[in-house]
Amino acid sequence: MWKHLEPGSSPVDWCEGNYLISPVIAEFVNTLSNIIFFLLPPLLIHLFKEYGKFVNPGIHIIWALMIVVGLSSAYFHATLSLIGQLLDELAILWVFMAAFSMFYPRRHFPYVFQNNRKLFSVATLIFSIAGTGFAIMHPAVNAFALMTLGIPACYLLIDGLKRCRCGRVLRLGVRSASMWFIAVFCWLSDRLFCDAWSAINFPYLHALWHIFIFIASYTALVLFAYFAVKDECPEKTPVLKYWPKDNFELGIPYVTIRSYYKGHKNEI
Ligand SMILES: [Zn+2]
Repeated sequence: MWKHLEPGSSPVDWCEGNYLISPVIAEFVNTLSNIIFFLLPPLLIHLFKEYGKFVNPGIHIIWALMIVVGLSSAYFHATLSLIGQLLDELAILWVFMAAFSMFYPRRHFPYVFQNNRKLFSVATLIFSIAGTGFAIMHPAVNAFALMTLGIPACYLLIDGLKRCRCGRVLRLGVRSASMWFIAVFCWLSDRLFCDAWSAINFPYLHALWHIFIFIASYTALVLFAYFAVKDECPEKTPVLKYWPKDNFELGIPYVTIRSYYKGHKNEI
């Protein structure tokens, strides 16, 4: 157990050179880039106050878990320890599972769940616990297993966007998908072409991955939160808004509920 806490005990090492900037932080830029996971979730918790109150308070668990992802990722890149790697990967697994249990559309539930979200959530919880055990026993396949979970998430995102006629929501969908592509490109590029990136003194593609994957994930979660109101609460109308200015669509997207909103109409 103790040897897994030791710096460098993880078999994974990213392109950025170790202990080059600080004698105590292995990958300095990769560690620092997790700051976005600390800065945005508190703001999202604030922006989703109405959503949490009138639709589903569980949304705040997801934003809080994003902070846990940032913490464990920063710990992993600072130490490159096996425990750090596992914490990072498990935190991501639990964000996925929390999001599935909350937002997975009932129309896609397997027949065995009989349209019952509680039952589906219990099954998700059991899967998460089993997945946690598996991840600890076979850490080598974790990254690929997590990438696989992205496939149903992408499918559900496309499915939700197809059912939506709101231009604003579709534009956010395109933004989220583009960020996914750029993020995955950065992750793969860091792994496969480290020599080329090091040759131009820019071994920081994994740090960029942290930033782009955060933006892709939270914008996808905003969209799932929006679709969930449409699917589960027909008496409520979700409104996609932007912070700090509602007409600046490159700002921070969030969802509020129309009955408590006195602005312009969102549907186009
Ligand atoms: Zn990382």
